[in-house]
Amino acid sequence: MESKREYIYDVIILGAGPAGFSAAVFASRGCMKTALIDTNCFGGQPSNYLEIENYPGYLSSNSFELMEKFERHADKFGADKFPMTEIKRVNLTSEIKEIETSDALFKAKSIIIATGAAPKKLNIPGETEFKCRGVSYCAVCDGAFYKDKVLAVIGGGNSALEEAVYLTKFAKKVYIIHRRNELRADKIVKDRALNNEKIEFILNTVPTEISGSNSVEKIKLKNVNSNDIFELEVQGVFPYIGIEPNVDMFLGQLKLTSQGFIETDINMQTSIEGVFAAGDVRNTPLRQVITAAADGACSACSAVKYIEKSEYIKSAVN
Ligand code: NAP
Repeated sequence: MESKREYIYDVIILGAGPAGFSAAVFASRGCMKTALIDTNCFGGQPSNYLEIENYPGYLSSNSFELMEKFERHADKFGADKFPMTEIKRVNLTSEIKEIETSDALFKAKSIIIATGAAPKKLNIPGETEFKCRGVSYCAVCDGAFYKDKVLAVIGGGNSALEEAVYLTKFAKKVYIIHRRNELRADKIVKDRALNNEKIEFILNTVPTEISGSNSVEKIKLKNVNSNDIFELEVQGVFPYIGIEPNVDMFLGQLKLTSQGFIETDINMQTSIEGVFAAGDVRNTPLRQVITAAADGACSACSAVKYIEKSEYIKSAVN
């Protein structure tokens, strides 16, 4: 059997979104041999957004382009990059951490987890069956397929309302279906949706089933106050009901919050020495590009200090 290629780094960063890129800039600029690994394309969640208008210094920026700039910045300091890398096994508990892929074994003194989060599922009949046939979690990717169609967006947060407004560029009508009578979204985002003539809000209502033949044709809804069930004819359903952390590969090794996010202290230190977490994957009060980038910077500085301290102790003992 052919042996796997072995790579040895000071710092390995898992996840190449804003937190991961920022960590890569700070770790490699801090003279650490650094690698950035992602199971997907680089860019993280912002690559699927439209615009960012709350990243200081950029009055408005195309999110994809902003992530390209983050990546170029990491390149400038020489971080090695491994996109589209399927991870088979992660060992965080040994002193030298290991990440095994199908054809390589990566070893590192410190790991930064910046794997972000993924869209939460509605878990109702028809959601999985009609995925890519009318059910989509990415308005930017799929919105253009819905010219003059009627759509349902589920959720009352910033994502649901922003993406619903975006979808009105293509769709004839967009219903926003929210389980309460108060929206969670920020006022500026709420006002844009409320002032959009193509948007109709259906409040105190949850979806219970998505149906159709070849593609989505209907969504069944339930009013949570009256329990009345009714149906809407729609050709697309966009659930935007929040996110869940990408932590599957670390389960059983790290301490998580009750909601499944990685617990860290203010230095981004996790429950395992030498392992840090940054961005949406950790217990953070705010999930924005700016806070993910700040977490990334902090986690990399903590990793650098951890490595320098461990090496100092080793040299003192020897
Ligand atoms: P979110 O803020 O957690 O909102 C999720 C929405 O979905 C809430 O309105 C929630 O209802 C509803 N919901 C949750 N589970 C549901 C279920 N099973 N069935 C029906 N509805 C359900 O998530 P998000 O909008 O994806 O945003 C995630 C984070 O990114 C937030 O911190 C947000 O501020 C941030 N973000 C910021 C911007 C921006 O600043 N421009 C843009 C996008 C996202 P309840 O309100 O009743 O809980």
